Amino acid sequence: MGKISIDIRNATLIKEDITVGIDLGTTNSLIAIVEGEKRLPVCLRDGGKAIVPSILHFADDGSILVGDAAREKLVSDPRNTIYSIKRLLGRSYSELSAHSGYYGYRIVEDESGASVRVEAKGRHYTPVELSALILAELKQKAEQALGKTVSKAVITVPAYFDDQQRQATRDAGKLAGLEVLRIVNEPTAASLAYGLGLSPDEVRTIAVYDLGGGTFDLSVLRLEKGVFEVLATRGDTYLGGDDIDRSIAQFWLETVPGAELLRNDSHAIQDLRLSAERAKKHFTGSTETWRHTLASGQAVFVLELSAEQLADICKPLIDKTLQITRAALKDANTKPDEVVLVGGSTRMPLVKEAVRSLFPEIPVRDNLDPDEVVALGASVEADILAGNRRDILLLDVTPLSLGIETMGGLMDVMIPRNSRIPCSAARQYTTSVDGQTRLQISVYQGERELCSENRLLGRFELQQIPAMPAGLPKVEVRFTLDADGILRVKAMELRSGVAQEIAMEQRGGLDDATVEKMLLESLQHARSDMDTRMLLEAQQEGKQLIYTAERFVVKNRGLLNEDEIARTSMLCNELEASIASGSKDEILHAVDRLNDYTRPFAERLMDQAVAIALKGKTIE
Ligand code: ADP
Ligand code: MG
Repeated sequence: MGKISIDIRNATLIKEDITVGIDLGTTNSLIAIVEGEKRLPVCLRDGGKAIVPSILHFADDGSILVGDAAREKLVSDPRNTIYSIKRLLGRSYSELSAHSGYYGYRIVEDESGASVRVEAKGRHYTPVELSALILAELKQKAEQALGKTVSKAVITVPAYFDDQQRQATRDAGKLAGLEVLRIVNEPTAASLAYGLGLSPDEVRTIAVYDLGGGTFDLSVLRLEKGVFEVLATRGDTYLGGDDIDRSIAQFWLETVPGAELLRNDSHAIQDLRLSAERAKKHFTGSTETWRHTLASGQAVFVLELSAEQLADICKPLIDKTLQITRAALKDANTKPDEVVLVGGSTRMPLVKEAVRSLFPEIPVRDNLDPDEVVALGASVEADILAGNRRDILLLDVTPLSLGIETMGGLMDVMIPRNSRIPCSAARQYTTSVDGQTRLQISVYQGERELCSENRLLGRFELQQIPAMPAGLPKVEVRFTLDADGILRVKAMELRSGVAQEIAMEQRGGLDDATVEKMLLESLQHARSDMDTRMLLEAQQEGKQLIYTAERFVVKNRGLLNEDEIARTSMLCNELEASIASGSKDEILHAVDRLNDYTRPFAERLMDQAVAIALKGKTIE
């Protein structure tokens, strides 16, 4: 009991499900489980190493290396060695282009502009696919170490990740064959690893200082009755241990005689960086000057770094983290009761001292391995979600997702299943028809994409919305789930303040078996549900476009000639026919054709509006 058993035969995986915690890091990724009667979290080790560098290498023969093996290719094949994938997740090209110089590989824009792609060996990969490769490697390693299948996971993300980035992380998990029970904030996981937040009557404020390889995050958490609330989060997505390495390498280039010649030699620079990292790590546990001879071609260089020199080099960087920390505490408008140190770079005594001097009166927790804390905490959360910690009553979760019906009968999830309660979520909707004065809100519970396959909890109508053009009303729908599982749904038109609210019980007679059955069905139908969803979305988009195009023609007849009106009407009819009987792709093609044809009309309208405005007339 208590030890990780390794199934030497390894041929058949024992069919026993284990829920793991995964820290999908920018630099390093780890996987952890909770084991034994004491429910202690441990990181899974592979030959003594728990860490998998978040690096991929794509080789000529189509093979893909993950982790340490890929890291070695950073020097020899930088164009096909992909690192820092986490920075790309859920991001658009325009959001990243400012830092494109940072990446040694090619980042390209995809057709929609919504996401980026990474080019390696002539193929394009999405960040979700790349992250999935890392997750799949972790999953496989865990299965080998445990001799059991691993299919459920909790994955951590930085507290500042937005919905899109969280969704991208979830998708990556799914693609890697994992059921992602929950996406958890990294600072929350770190607190859980220290056992903070596990007792019911605890009320505390915690500052989590996370200095990793490439990023710095400071989060202030309010912990009350098992609920973690992020009061403030600040950081710098381009500040971390790598910058220290770069600064040390820079220092050598400037001070070691003859070293400036290495500047244009990318191999030598990479070597210098790796030496810099080794020198930096040497000072964890020693204050003696570090020495190393580096051979490059014919030349030999003696690299030296003293503790004082390192302190000088690190000072501006550490000061910056302290500045960010002060700003975050100001945002949170509170004083923390304790500080938790996270991330490999907090091993540095210089960093520990700096943080201690900023918080002289409160405990600074650093006794767990800072590389591992996030994964350990994720596994604690995983264990709770798997139902192994019946003692923690307050960490109650919703058994099934809660959402409302949107266009075409689709389920729009507001509170995902396994969300800890109490909780609350809000989203804005609008009308699809001009002058619409009512909006029906139907609340469902379940995991299927179609509301008709889920369970109707209740429905009401928001009335007396002032008549406005389609798309203008802002209707906020807010779900509030209290500790007893009572769901309150409130809809409010924000421009007018018209509001309506109902309460319903979310469990409502659902026994465990029913919940399980609903979950199982959602898994079995995941693929066809996805297809149905995409078809319905295409149909909806088509209908909306026909509505807009027809309205445009009616309102702006003067701008168009007979031919144009006839052709628009023909394209509308074609689109209508494909909505009635076509596939998703056929509909989207018809949408494109109509869009392409009518786009110049809108420009004409704009030109005319500008011309009228220039004449000093007002536009209706
Ligand atoms: P991430 O969260 O970005 O994946 P990690 O938390 O794994 O990153 O931190 C990686 C960083 O920690 C690297 O820059 C590495 O050089 C640094 N690091 C690891 N061990 C030490 C050490 N003993 N001293 C200083 N820095 C260290
Ligand atoms: Mg990290």
